[in-house]
Amino acid sequence: MPCPYRKEHDIMPGAFDAIVIGAGSVGLPTTLYLTLEGLKVLCIDELPSAGQGQNKAAIGGVRATHSDPAKIGICLKSIELFSTWQETWGEYIKWKKGGYCFPAYTEREETILRKLLVVQKANNLEIDWVGAGEIRELVPGITPDGLRGGTFSPNDGQVSPLMFAASCHRIAERRGAEFRFDEKVVGIELGPGDKVERVRTTKDTYSAPIVVNAAGAHAKEIGKLSGLDVPVTPDSHEAGVTAPVGEFLGPLVVDIRPGRDGKTANFYFGQGTTGQIIFCYTPAELFVGTDRNETSEFMPVIARRMVELVPRFRNLLVRRVWRGLYPMTPDGVAIVDKVEEQPGMYLGVGMCGQGFMMGPGVAMNLAKLIVHGEPDLPRGIFSALRFKRDFGAKVEALK
Ligand SMILES: Cc1cc2nc3c(=O)[nH]c(=O)nc-3n(C[C@H](O)[C@H](O)[C@H](O)COP(=O)(O)OP(=O)(O)OC[C@H]3O[C@@H](n4cnc5c(N)ncnc54)[C@H](O)[C@@H]3O)c2cc1C
Repeated sequence: MPCPYRKEHDIMPGAFDAIVIGAGSVGLPTTLYLTLEGLKVLCIDELPSAGQGQNKAAIGGVRATHSDPAKIGICLKSIELFSTWQETWGEYIKWKKGGYCFPAYTEREETILRKLLVVQKANNLEIDWVGAGEIRELVPGITPDGLRGGTFSPNDGQVSPLMFAASCHRIAERRGAEFRFDEKVVGIELGPGDKVERVRTTKDTYSAPIVVNAAGAHAKEIGKLSGLDVPVTPDSHEAGVTAPVGEFLGPLVVDIRPGRDGKTANFYFGQGTTGQIIFCYTPAELFVGTDRNETSEFMPVIARRMVELVPRFRNLLVRRVWRGLYPMTPDGVAIVDKVEEQPGMYLGVGMCGQGFMMGPGVAMNLAKLIVHGEPDLPRGIFSALRFKRDFGAKVEALK
């Protein structure tokens, strides 16, 4: 397929059409979709292989059930791509279409969820309020006392982040993309008119007229290399996985009640295709920074919440826990945009707690924006992700 972008730019031997910084949830699919658009792409990561940053910390939940129309649109695209991955590429990524379920036990949660339904339905999401009986069928063993019902979105699901990363890497490489691992990006050089020209790493220097910052928790540092202030600050979140048990749970379940423990803002869990229960909570007080050491607090706190909600969980054997980073923006919404003042510079950053599910949708939009000048989403919706916005204006309800 002829590449419209190529008509406008000469390519020097040894140079690239585009350089993607970061082989993670966003950088890998971006490398793939830019390559499929006909560009010669180089993807650079300081870690030894694909998806080893925050990508592998994700529990793999994939939902379009958000409250922001841009996130909904991006994730609907992601779900389309994840759910057809195997038939498109012949590679298994553990896609499980089990849906997402948000049970409600108090009036507060019911009101929040019912209000969100209005926005979600207006944005073409297949989601509805279901009664307590149906929630009990979806989540066998859920405590029935005070259960008022909840929302269920059947088209959401789960994917293995590591299998998806490996698959993206393999397919992109097969299609001609190049990867450099164990190379840290340490410089970005701009030319006349502040046009992007070169990327310097700990090992080499590469030329390209397009650079995509997909550096996740380190997006701010990469921004600084060309003098940009990219408002992404990481904070730490912990997760865990149990030994496998017989399949009994279809959806991922999110309990949005703040914990009586004072430690948890909400918590969520699901069962993967191989039987393990994966689980996570959002701390009431965020741990801002890059600390990835597990805490002694996590297991006792989450275990109490999980057993309280689904008493049969007391029989589970926990296999391991880990801690990773959410690359947060001040308003909880990602930045996916071109940088007007530095021609050739693009941002796919600030994915917060949803970077894995947003990855393919963000990548598809960035690839279209870079190559064709227009994103995949309608401009009116896509503009919520712009770089230059008032980050104090709103905080998304469903982070
Ligand atoms: C416990 C936990 C559970 C989560 N669960 C989910 C979930 O269920 N669903 C979901 O969608 N999201 C989830 N997330 C969030 C998700 O993991 C992140 O939002 C997502 O991985 C961010 O993607 P990214 O591409 O921006 O960053 P990453 O995947 O971290 O990729 C960025 C890459 O850039 C590289 N890099 C950075 N600086 C440089 C440099 N100077 N030179 C070279 N390379 C560099 C890094 O090494 C890294 O590989 C979870 C996160 C945590 C911590």
